[in-house]
Amino acid sequence: MMSDKEFKKLFRKEASKNYQNYFPVKALKRNGFERHQCKKCGKFFWSIKERDICGDPECTGSYEFIGQKNGPEMGFSQVWLRFSKLLESKGYVPIKRYPVIARWNPSVEFTIASITDFQPYVVSGEVEPIHRMLTVPQICLRFNDIDSVGLTGRHYTGFTMIGQHAFVPKKEFNQEKYFEDYLSWFTEEMKLKKDDLIIHEDAWAGGGNVGACLEFFSKGLEIGNQVYMFFERDHAELKELDIKVLDMGMGQERVSWFLSGKATSYEVVMPSVTEYLFKVTGIKKDDKILKKFVPLSSLLDLDELENSDETWRTIANKIDVNVNKLKSIIFPVQKIYAIADHSRTLLYALTDGALPSNVGGGYNLRVLFRKAMDYGKDLGINLDWKMIFRLHSEDLKDMYPEFLDNYKDITKIIEVEKQKYFENKKKASSILTRFLKNKQEVEEDELIKLYDTFGITPEDVKKEAEKLDVKVSVSDKFYSKISEIHENKEHPTQTGTRKFIEFDEGLPETNKLYFEDFGLIEFDSVVLAVKDNFVVLESSAFYPTSGGQLHDTGSINGIKVVDVFKQGNLIVHKLETKPNFKKGAIVHGNIDAERRTILTQMHTAAHILNGACKKILGNHVWQAGAAKTTEKARLDITHYDSLSAVELQKIEDLANEIIKRDLPVNKYFMNRILAENKFGMTIYQGGAVPGKKLRIVEIPDFDVEACGGTHLNNTSQTEMIKIIKTSKVQDGVIRLEFVAGKRAIELIEKENQIIEELCRLLNCNKEHIPGKAKELFELWKKIVKKKKPVESFELKSKESFEGDVLKETAKILKTQPEHVIKTVKRFIDDVKKRLS
Ligand SMILES: [Zn+2]
Ligand SMILES: [Zn+2]
Repeated sequence: MMSDKEFKKLFRKEASKNYQNYFPVKALKRNGFERHQCKKCGKFFWSIKERDICGDPECTGSYEFIGQKNGPEMGFSQVWLRFSKLLESKGYVPIKRYPVIARWNPSVEFTIASITDFQPYVVSGEVEPIHRMLTVPQICLRFNDIDSVGLTGRHYTGFTMIGQHAFVPKKEFNQEKYFEDYLSWFTEEMKLKKDDLIIHEDAWAGGGNVGACLEFFSKGLEIGNQVYMFFERDHAELKELDIKVLDMGMGQERVSWFLSGKATSYEVVMPSVTEYLFKVTGIKKDDKILKKFVPLSSLLDLDELENSDETWRTIANKIDVNVNKLKSIIFPVQKIYAIADHSRTLLYALTDGALPSNVGGGYNLRVLFRKAMDYGKDLGINLDWKMIFRLHSEDLKDMYPEFLDNYKDITKIIEVEKQKYFENKKKASSILTRFLKNKQEVEEDELIKLYDTFGITPEDVKKEAEKLDVKVSVSDKFYSKISEIHENKEHPTQTGTRKFIEFDEGLPETNKLYFEDFGLIEFDSVVLAVKDNFVVLESSAFYPTSGGQLHDTGSINGIKVVDVFKQGNLIVHKLETKPNFKKGAIVHGNIDAERRTILTQMHTAAHILNGACKKILGNHVWQAGAAKTTEKARLDITHYDSLSAVELQKIEDLANEIIKRDLPVNKYFMNRILAENKFGMTIYQGGAVPGKKLRIVEIPDFDVEACGGTHLNNTSQTEMIKIIKTSKVQDGVIRLEFVAGKRAIELIEKENQIIEELCRLLNCNKEHIPGKAKELFELWKKIVKKKKPVESFELKSKESFEGDVLKETAKILKTQPEHVIKTVKRFIDDVKKRLS
């Protein structure tokens, strides 16, 4: 299949040939724009003035907006406030931003554009948008330009894309209006003369959709891009979309920068943090050099630039300054700007629940953190993260008040990350010494490995290598490469290896009876298909394995059901033997009630526990995975540290408190967009869920999730939750193993039996068990291990213990709770033998 890039190229030809069909030509002409073709790049563009070169800085050679005021001053937040107000008067409803972690969207980890908010279901037309015309100030994270941040004046890892969107039936799609509405932003608010606008024709392809777009340039800077999505790609064919989409994205940072005419955008966009960093580092910037450097810096931004020395020399020549002097002026300033950007991105991501880690997108956050720390060190300061977060939050409060409310919480996450950073640095030097021994040259692959495995940066390697005369080759795009490697590893997909069962085509979706009541365990239904041992019914109360919950068992017409799974929108029952009934028969289904009840208790318990973790540990907690079997269940949560005994106890106590309170567990279907708006994106605890409607499982004022599992009717039916074990399964992910309901009660009974037996063996009360066990262990070591003679065997400890006696005793004896009795018996026997 043709790639988006190739397709875009192809479609661009068609769009320029029949441009009347794809661009708002009437509106362009009405406003005085004429069509021209660039002599340099061949692109078609529209401008009022007669021009033969387009507005791209690659053709014009430079930015022309730096060093002069280009319009009224607009602080960062002001841009959004004024844009949204202007467009509201033209019918676009301003909405709140979506989180930067795109939990609702199965194709990306982070939100990368304003349109990400509406993919895939609104764009595909499956789900009605909340408003047909809207604007949104969407924070986006992108890591592919990480090395250019601070250098080019315009690159960020976290930025706001202001979106102007419309999702309407094709007849209502009013391209002329959308164009003129956006044009009014330039003329009415930015106060630009239309003469200063150059509007490029281009094609656009992405995510299976194809369209045309107009790029708005002024004085060499691209400010916005208005995409008109017309088609859906079906192999090489283009199909007209049922719903047409307007996708205008404008970089908010760029607008502030452009209007100010300052050398770089960073001080205009993040005034408090940059001012603070210049103050504490004592670095003075050379505005004259910067103003000359920034317009040329895009030369350093070429993607494939492997060796930039040559480019640096060219730039230095143009500015007429020595190349080393130029670098010594630029690099410290770049570091300040990069710290400002990286810390702001971390503020965005951590507030929305992401954590630095060594996998997936979390890895990029760790890279940002470490780069910022390294830069701080280079500049001679220890970064005060709390201060930096507060300053950013204050700068942002008019448009994003949420950061000022949350920045203190995320400082805790940073503290843990800081410890890891310093531990790494400590280990780094000995690893490096060993690594560099007998080496002549270090290649980039090795640098990547060193960074990935030990967090050792190329800069660290260079410093050590210089001392030993070892050559190091590192590209200027090192961190972008690192980030790309990790982005490609994202999203492990859960694809089963199950064989596809071929039934007759056109079977209707199975009517699912288990949604209504978990107590429904008997039902009748018509058989729709039989293939070998596999049966599809019109309706079924059998729960298929999904959402981490195991399938039901039971029987259909007396034949055992051994597996139940989903295939498309069918529920498929696997029977133990070939059935004696055929398509069209009416059969009776019977579900194993005990198994169903246990699984349901485990599932509702997982929701309760997840809610409790959030309340106790903080809003950064997300479910990272879950599994419920009949023996036990597990819940993986995102958290930046391991759990202390106190935290664990608090979580378990709160969970059991929720059970005691007998809260209702409400289950109902709700329109996706309404649910997102009412409860927020935290409903996607289990990941992205397909479909127009979501099944909501709600424990009022405690936990709300989109979930298709079987659930109890009220929390008290969970009976009890007991956490058995916790472990760290991955950096930033903690696993809680637990039991609930019948299994929890069984466990408690078993534990009580063990405690009774221990009381008998050690001849004491429950609270004295740990003390006596400790004494016994000491005695045993003395007699058996050190072979010291002992006269009598009497345990005298009166130490009293409050808390989980069994867990404590197991810890003292360095064994598992279920082995405590065996261990105590063995110690007693051993000691007694030596006595005689
Ligand atoms: Zn051009
Ligand atoms: Zn669930």
